[in-house]
Amino acid sequence: MAGNVTVKGWCPGALRPMLSGDGLVVRVRPRFAALSRNQVLALCDAASRFGTGVIDLTNRANLQIRGVTEAAWPQLMKLIGEAGLVDDDAETEGRRNLLVAPDWIDGDDTHRITGLLLNRLNALPSLPAKVGFAIDAGPAPLLSHESADFRIERSESGALLVRADGRDKGALVATPESAVDALIALAHWFVDSGGLDAGRMRRHDADLPEWAAARISPAQAARVPALGIHPAGTLYGLIFGQVDAGNLRAAVEQTNAKGMRVTPWRRLILEGGIPGLPCSGLVLDNSAPELNADACAGAPGCEQATVATRELARQLSGAVEGHLHVSGCSKGCARRLASDICVTGREGRYDVIFKGRADGEPDITGLTASQLLEYFGVK
Ligand code: SF4
Repeated sequence: MAGNVTVKGWCPGALRPMLSGDGLVVRVRPRFAALSRNQVLALCDAASRFGTGVIDLTNRANLQIRGVTEAAWPQLMKLIGEAGLVDDDAETEGRRNLLVAPDWIDGDDTHRITGLLLNRLNALPSLPAKVGFAIDAGPAPLLSHESADFRIERSESGALLVRADGRDKGALVATPESAVDALIALAHWFVDSGGLDAGRMRRHDADLPEWAAARISPAQAARVPALGIHPAGTLYGLIFGQVDAGNLRAAVEQTNAKGMRVTPWRRLILEGGIPGLPCSGLVLDNSAPELNADACAGAPGCEQATVATRELARQLSGAVEGHLHVSGCSKGCARRLASDICVTGREGRYDVIFKGRADGEPDITGLTASQLLEYFGVK
């Protein structure tokens, strides 16, 4: 049920920001899923001075600033460019569509493969904007449920695998170098075998080439790590993936963090520093009901939305059983998986889909916000 949603087919970057209902959306793709302390502080400054003062952590582990005016964008770019957060050109930025398991340590296979692939981005063919790579070479995959088209994982016995998304098995690769060769070759095969028509690997049903044939299962996926003390520092949750830039700055300073890792789970790791320190605006409580809810920007921030989302999600979370998704329209930017309760905006009203996605067939249609709250027993 696509409704009147406009599918833009490209993703904003820093060099190629997207105009939305509240101004430009400037999205930064952290290399290695990591930012130094100075980079975090520069991003906080940029959001406070030139954006809405809020930083969004997306479900592809990117960081974005909204509400930037065209006049302010060059100053913002200067600030984050000097911090080393901007690519040389928009084409490189667009190709750098990598999801990296955030628990890597220096010199391990996830770190090495990511570095090797970053150095060979020019060898990739031109791919659809949403097509990306997951570098996930820890003992058990962490990113299996996240959006990516070509994955590096590990088998139960510890061997490296390259796996095309949508296939439940992968092919062995011997070394980090051959893993990168395989990713690049698979991307070329995708284009040459008509994958551009399918758009994403999981929708592309051509037979894989013999060398990449799906033979070995990846190890069982790991659970998303719990909030709190983490081997790399402290893992904090962000309600709806948002953090006030002032709160993030204060958290970095109070904890004396040396940097930050980003994840696709609306959680971030403050690296090093004082472990487990409570920080304003960052969540350490694993039972916080808002952590079991997703909500996109909605109206008025997104021009495609006709309804507000986040305040409603805040009111509904805790009052509903299971996972909640409140989406401003059927595009479902905040979550591509099904939810127990999905509320989708349409023409200024809300539809409800039980056990489905934002683009699913609604079970209840046309509720106002107060009717919706009443339906779920929220006073
Ligand atoms: S899902 Fe939300 S953020 Fe995405 S286009 Fe629709 S209203 Fe905008």
